[in-house]
Amino acid sequence: MSHPASSSDSQNPLLARWTSGFELPPFAAIRPEHFGPAFDQALAKHRAELDAIVADPAAPSFDNTIVALERSGRELESVSNVFFVLAGADTSDEIEAIERDISPLLARHRNTLYLNRALFSRIADLYAKRDALGLNAEQARVLERYHARFVRAGAALEKPAQDRLAVINERLASLGTGFAQNVLADEKSFVMLLEEDDLAGLPDFARAASKAAADERGHPGKYGITLARSSVESFLQFSSRRDLREKAFQAWIRRGENGGTTDNRAPIAEMVALRSERAKLLGFATFADYRLDDQMAKTPAAARKLLDEVWGRARAKAADERASLQAMVTKEGANFALAAHDWRYYAEKLRKAKFDLDETEIKPYLQLDKMIEAAFETARRLFGLSFKPVTLPLYHPDARAWEVTDAQGRQVALFIGDYFARSSKHSGAWSTALRDQEKLSGNIRPIVLNVCNFSKPAAGEPALLSFEDARTLFHEFGHALHSMLSNVTYPLLAGTAVPSDFVELPSQLYEHWLEVPEILEQHARHSRTGEPMPKTLLDRLLATRTFNQGFATVEYTACALVDLDLHSEPNAVALDISEFERKDLERIAMPPEIVMRHRLPHFQHLFAGGGYAAGYYSYMWSEVLDADAFAAFEEAGNAFDPATARRLREYVYGAGNLRDPAEAYKAFRGRLPTVDALLKKRGLADVA
Ligand SMILES: [Zn+2]
Repeated sequence: MSHPASSSDSQNPLLARWTSGFELPPFAAIRPEHFGPAFDQALAKHRAELDAIVADPAAPSFDNTIVALERSGRELESVSNVFFVLAGADTSDEIEAIERDISPLLARHRNTLYLNRALFSRIADLYAKRDALGLNAEQARVLERYHARFVRAGAALEKPAQDRLAVINERLASLGTGFAQNVLADEKSFVMLLEEDDLAGLPDFARAASKAAADERGHPGKYGITLARSSVESFLQFSSRRDLREKAFQAWIRRGENGGTTDNRAPIAEMVALRSERAKLLGFATFADYRLDDQMAKTPAAARKLLDEVWGRARAKAADERASLQAMVTKEGANFALAAHDWRYYAEKLRKAKFDLDETEIKPYLQLDKMIEAAFETARRLFGLSFKPVTLPLYHPDARAWEVTDAQGRQVALFIGDYFARSSKHSGAWSTALRDQEKLSGNIRPIVLNVCNFSKPAAGEPALLSFEDARTLFHEFGHALHSMLSNVTYPLLAGTAVPSDFVELPSQLYEHWLEVPEILEQHARHSRTGEPMPKTLLDRLLATRTFNQGFATVEYTACALVDLDLHSEPNAVALDISEFERKDLERIAMPPEIVMRHRLPHFQHLFAGGGYAAGYYSYMWSEVLDADAFAAFEEAGNAFDPATARRLREYVYGAGNLRDPAEAYKAFRGRLPTVDALLKKRGLADVA
């Protein structure tokens, strides 16, 4: 992309210094056409900075090479951060077009950085004499991480191999962007419009949410089921219309697999082949070997060992669950075999029968605003943080901001929450940052966002969450805390810049506090009466913790296994993706009544950028850590034990990538984790 420099550059809000409150980007003034010139200028500036480092006649030093690298590319980072927040949470045709242009350019730019042999030789020179440089522990870690990054990117390879890597990287970037846009296109183009008569079984909140969804899609007066998880899952849970459940479910699991221009199977096959080729150029047998070499697990075999340990037990538990659900079908006088689109519906019924508990009873007590307060309260009790709402011009009216301060009243971060689903937002839930913490250029505090897809209520109605939604809110807020509490000097090590099989520890660990009774007692309040959740209801809710966990574990673990298998293919050329998925599920004996939580054609973790490619096992790996870590609070007899919380902050939430993850965990817990707490948490400990 080339954009003639013009006098308008001086008015480009992306290139101006941001001086308003919290130095937030001036969202109100930013228009899509500002991004092209801003990217051009920021890329050129970063290139010039890198050239200057290489051209420095002085012998390489930590300061003139590593610190200089850490200080470079700041404009590019700011512009990228703003752009990708919008591309994820409030996109448009114009933003999508820019994204298609910019992603290969950014990949090319990363190549000029990480495949820069002159730059690498300075780093390698420093690394070789690292023990004689007088570095402190953090500086030594930064140098080691830079060296590893460059080596893993191919900086040490010969020119022909580097040229091929450069081509592969650019192509992968384009394919990843296209993949995510295809999924969004399939989600946008589907809405199952319903009339009053079609709503049998739906509780009030689901009727209200589907009315609001139809409204947002331009069908006022109707009801609509969309492919946002909150919308389709609650429909599957409650609708007694088996035909409509099947229709919605089929659309949901076929995202990215509908033929035509949005079909993702060919792009996936190409991505898998390119990743495999890249791994081989870098000296690894498969992409999974390459990917896990720099993770806490280290090898695919270690990740697989954990998944295998869980898989057999999960299938056994799911088989028991299936039998109970089938018994319900039969008891109702129906004679069909339970299908995938029936599971959630009968599970909800069984939960009601077994525990006298249904979602409609819980939901009025789980108000979005109160659950946000519950997440804040937990952070106050663990880490002494306070949250004050602030009114700032953000990128969408549904996004809200809070100023975060510590016990001494010092500013810790700005937190932005953007909770409601809309058609301009990609599906899923994530945490991201507009600015990371660091101390290299002053005490820079982070600006952190949580983006979710909860159903938006009709005007005047309270936003109500399912317990799963509340768990998602806590999960993403745990990631946010990892960014906000970060206390490092060098940006490279800030916050969530840790291996992906460790990054889910702070988020999944945080979910445990949602189940701490005193948190719900205080914050689960009925939306109409303001009454706290009755003790008996709370007890019944907590008693259902391990209910349907066979299903949940199978749904997840199948994805992790298929991901590992796909990225362990020794000869990953021209794979038929549908066929691969089918055969692999057959190999692991996937129960036919359960569908992968993310089928390959819409598996964004693996293919929309690839952050979790050969890494979806990370959630289970981190769960071993989070279950074991929460047990430390249980052993202390207090879910907010101050001494345990202090260690947790020092070695996990505040520590970024200061230490090797295993060392960090040992420093917190005094030992490495065992799998026992995880099996207990999922109710799998007693399963043969
Ligand atoms: Zn997460």
